[in-house]
Amino acid sequence: MQPKGTRLEVNLNDLEHNYHYLRSKINDGTKFISVVKANAYGHGIVEVAQKLQDLGTDYFATAYVEEAVELRNNKIVKPILVLHAQQHNLEICIDRCLEPVIYSVEMLDAFTAFAKAKNQQSYPIHIEFNTGLNRIGIDAVDIDKVLDKIKLSPEVKVRGLQSHLAASEDLDEEAFTNKQILLFEKLADRIQEELGYEILKHESNTSGILNFKSAHFSMVRSGIGLY
Ligand SMILES: *Cc1c(COP(=O)(O)O)cnc(C)c1O
Repeated sequence: MQPKGTRLEVNLNDLEHNYHYLRSKINDGTKFISVVKANAYGHGIVEVAQKLQDLGTDYFATAYVEEAVELRNNKIVKPILVLHAQQHNLEICIDRCLEPVIYSVEMLDAFTAFAKAKNQQSYPIHIEFNTGLNRIGIDAVDIDKVLDKIKLSPEVKVRGLQSHLAASEDLDEEAFTNKQILLFEKLADRIQEELGYEILKHESNTSGILNFKSAHFSMVRSGIGLY
């Protein structure tokens, strides 16, 4: 029988190698989000995150608040992005210092209400816009509505703009991906101009890192490539 420790050790060595490989594909100034949702793609969220924190990842991303709380309970102090925070958990984001991805106007309203009730100022949030066909995020046509609300809500501050490339793994869809990248840039410029400060811009998953250098922006989100 193989001792349990051996397999974990090998996994962590692979993880370290993959992390350095992905980082070598991005500029030094580009931040790296390690996506550890789904129990770090089945590899053990706590062990994997602790290793990645030691290696110097800038950020973590989880799907749900519960996973992020588990990280906070296990010595993870780096910023954590929660990709699919649910309404009944939004308050916990503030209590545990988690940065929610806001993907609808209703969610923006709900979160700012909690932030206000908890006397927050400039609480960091990430706004997700839909730049493709993937139905995830706020529609680009709603940008004015979103900006108006944010300007009236000093309890939150836009730390980042997020979008998701729908076909970055498929080089036959290069034209489509380039359109997503262009729209993302336009949204980012508009937000920064209107709000008057720099935000983090993140659109790439692993295949975006490998296939679309122009989509790296200020931060990338990698999951599968780490494992
Ligand atoms: C899962 C996920 C990622 C990571 O994608 P990989 O292809 O595994 O690198 C990035 N961003 C979002 C929003 C995700 O849900």
